[in-house]
Amino acid sequence: MIDKSRAPSAIGNNPERNREHNRRVVLDLVRQHGMLGRMEIARQTHLTAQAVANIVDDLVGEGLLMATGRRRTGRGQPPIQFAVNPEGAATVGVEIATDQMVVTVLDLTGVLRYKRIIPLSGTTPERTLPVFSLEVGRARKSVEAPLLGVGVVMPGPFGIEGMSFVGPTTLPGWNGIDVEAELEAACGANVTLENDAAAAAVAERLFGAGHAIAHFCMLYFGSGIGLGMIQDGAPYRGAFGNAGEIGHVPLVPSGRLCPCGQRGCLERYASLHALHERSRPERQKPSANI
Ligand SMILES: [Zn+2]
Repeated sequence: MIDKSRAPSAIGNNPERNREHNRRVVLDLVRQHGMLGRMEIARQTHLTAQAVANIVDDLVGEGLLMATGRRRTGRGQPPIQFAVNPEGAATVGVEIATDQMVVTVLDLTGVLRYKRIIPLSGTTPERTLPVFSLEVGRARKSVEAPLLGVGVVMPGPFGIEGMSFVGPTTLPGWNGIDVEAELEAACGANVTLENDAAAAAVAERLFGAGHAIAHFCMLYFGSGIGLGMIQDGAPYRGAFGNAGEIGHVPLVPSGRLCPCGQRGCLERYASLHALHERSRPERQKPSANI
């Protein structure tokens, strides 16, 4: 019986069996196994041998896969093995948090090749975008491989009137602008923007504890608190990407006042920001406590 949660086609939950999708499936399958031959790729993806041969030829031609020699199997001509070429491409990953920016470069095999943490004294777009531009440029120079794109995570919630980017656990001034377009203009590369908790859940799904689990939730402690959800192997975001924004769920009736205007929000009790507040009791107003 096939465990669908582990089938390569389940990743991304994309039913469209087009060429681009098949390329990704093949590349990801080889990445997961380290090395694979064409026949084994065909068997596991349910693609025809000819389709696999074409895709593998393309990927080798583009430098994304590389032939690593033949594996002895005992009988007949041993099959040629293919592996992901770490030098084939790279991605830049950036976290913009409330007090710092983390910039990383990963090669095509997912190995960390560069990491830099930059403290931020202000996180408005005016303060952040020049730093982002400079640091992405610096990161790109750390590897010679072509850049696939830049992935950026920020704390949400996004696009909720009166609640987005309000308070100390969010980034001020980003509401009402096309964040992805601003980031792309600043770094000159394709940018994929994601909520920090959702991105963390996808990472666990692809590389971590959620690898063999098709449905799960994970709590993410940034400055605030978020929930990353994976459903049928793919991230569950909701209409505006805020499905996991549990920070402003009212938890305590008449509880601590929250910058969002409500009282008793979860984030006022269970977040790094709340912990920091607790560790500085002399700076808290008694009325803000319960
Ligand atoms: Zn709130």
